[in-house]
Amino acid sequence: MYRILCIATTLFAVSAFSQEIAITIDDAPAPDSNLFAGEERTQKLIESLKKSDVSDVLLFVKTNNITEHSKKRLEAYVDAGFHLGNHSHNHYSANRKDVDVYLSDIALAHDRLKSFGNLLPFYRYPFLHEGNDRKVRDRIRRFLKSMGYQSGYVTVDNYDWYMDKLLQQALADGREIDYEALKKAYVTILWESIKFYDEVAQQSLGRSPRHVLLLHENDMAALYIGDLISHIRSNGWVIISPEEAYKDPIASSVPDVLYNKQGRVAAIAKSKGWDTKFLRHESESEDFLDNYFKDNGVYK
Ligand SMILES: [Zn+2]
Repeated sequence: MYRILCIATTLFAVSAFSQEIAITIDDAPAPDSNLFAGEERTQKLIESLKKSDVSDVLLFVKTNNITEHSKKRLEAYVDAGFHLGNHSHNHYSANRKDVDVYLSDIALAHDRLKSFGNLLPFYRYPFLHEGNDRKVRDRIRRFLKSMGYQSGYVTVDNYDWYMDKLLQQALADGREIDYEALKKAYVTILWESIKFYDEVAQQSLGRSPRHVLLLHENDMAALYIGDLISHIRSNGWVIISPEEAYKDPIASSVPDVLYNKQGRVAAIAKSKGWDTKFLRHESESEDFLDNYFKDNGVYK
């Protein structure tokens, strides 16, 4: 009996205190690259997620990436049990584009997506830009609400897209790549960003929320998403579904700030008076990553 009690207590302790994170993947179905054809990339992502026993991820679709051919990749994600969300048609910035054009772009994306299965009414703002002034920001929010959409915010921002850009450049230049070092860089940097935003959350919210990790449908994810997931779990964290993550109270307590491009946790901290220089991880910088890749021997 004592043993059972011990095990039960341990299990409770783990579930009560484990940090949780969901995985979201932007810009699908992204075009062919220097390493993988789009189809191959999708297959690799599905395979790795299945092998890692991740039951759900949310792919934010940029619908002008959809062609007769790449459409099948979205269907493959759906068949694998994953979900799709709206990431606009043309990937405009709400900070720059005329708001009427911006809104019709969201509607157009919805129109292109509605015949797919497993579509969830979440909208991921391109560049995480939600508008430069309150009038624009609120108009977009009202429009999304009228469509039945919620914000597909992130809590962990990062420069995974730039790491992929560095890989593509190295391939184009015919440089020799140390794939072990590349993997280590990807996993380490993303894990550091996760810890960083969790720390900001603990200090500004007083707790660790259900996190939402931002990734992109790129070659780095296709190569190393499984390693990233193992690393996150080996630190005691639990991978949850995006739908679960968006049930966190931070989904409905939207801070009234015009600072959203580092995600929801950073926006909350900003609303509590934090200086924005403490709300961006050092790896969210092209210079930092250029040097990091160089110093860690990612390529010759
Ligand atoms: Zn995007």
